[in-house]
Amino acid sequence: MPKTSKKKLLKLFKDHKVQLLISKFVSGELGKLNPVYDPKHGFRYPLVDEIVGESSNTNKFLQKLFEGGVLNRKLYDKIVYCPTCSSANVSIHYTCPYCKSFDIKKSSLIEHIKCGYIDTEDHFQKEDKLVCPKCNKELISPDVDHHKAGVWCSCNKCTKSFDIPVPAHFCRECKENFTFDEAIYKDVYEYSLSPEAAKEVTLGWVMIGPIMESLEDIGFKVESPGFLNGKSGTRHMFDLTAVSEKKKLITAIDLATSEDVVSDQVVISMFAKIFDTNPEKACLVAIPNMSESAKKLAKLYKIKLIEANDQTAAIKALKEYVTQ
Ligand SMILES: [Zn+2]
Ligand SMILES: [Zn+2]
Ligand SMILES: [Zn+2]
Repeated sequence: MPKTSKKKLLKLFKDHKVQLLISKFVSGELGKLNPVYDPKHGFRYPLVDEIVGESSNTNKFLQKLFEGGVLNRKLYDKIVYCPTCSSANVSIHYTCPYCKSFDIKKSSLIEHIKCGYIDTEDHFQKEDKLVCPKCNKELISPDVDHHKAGVWCSCNKCTKSFDIPVPAHFCRECKENFTFDEAIYKDVYEYSLSPEAAKEVTLGWVMIGPIMESLEDIGFKVESPGFLNGKSGTRHMFDLTAVSEKKKLITAIDLATSEDVVSDQVVISMFAKIFDTNPEKACLVAIPNMSESAKKLAKLYKIKLIEANDQTAAIKALKEYVTQ
């Protein structure tokens, strides 16, 4: 990987939302990120919707991670959207090339091999047998005395016949008809963690997966992202929430990483969430450490601060704090 793209990758890793998604891959919860089909909206990635918070930003987020080298992608499907209302609830209509009606009948063409007569299946049908209308012989074994010679369509509206219908679309939401020309036609991808990103992850940039695992091992119910409801009615997102099985005490945990020191802003925004949601415990894990003023703020706000140089040290300190 060129140096510039590695820099880009590491920059993306500092985004908590990116960390949360990567942790799903690293923890093994996610092997591949597959789209889930929803008839109204088309394909979605519910897990990413939850991380991003706003489902309309999901595709932009995934695109950014693909361009930044965090994710690889593979074409999974193609999807048609209505050009009028953007709904994915679209059906296909095979239409008559003469009058455009979709009221057409599809039948099979049958060839009687012995006499060479070709016609649609209904012309051969005599009660429950197939009988050649030309030579009056019964057709017995498929591929021996007769075979299918293609399809034949006829229009119930204009009565014309043809072999290839014209595909068109019908929007079940706004009831508009539209052609392939007019349709919005998009790629749908399946995503996986790129080998380059996976390599960096093992170096300790992303810690949520291992933290979750170790807290679950000692009997905590851990969610990532973890959501807590505030007094104000707002639902706040923390990087992790851990609930002890015995005492039902909630610990809200946020992580902050920086190349040198983590700034005050991180402490302030965590305090705003804690003030509203009032969990029993709150902890901020700073990698590698916090600025002096941020430390003072954390103390004032009663946020437990864990400064750690690496994953192992962070997990050890966090385990001690949640079990106190
Ligand atoms: Zn529509
Ligand atoms: Zn027609
Ligand atoms: Zn015949």
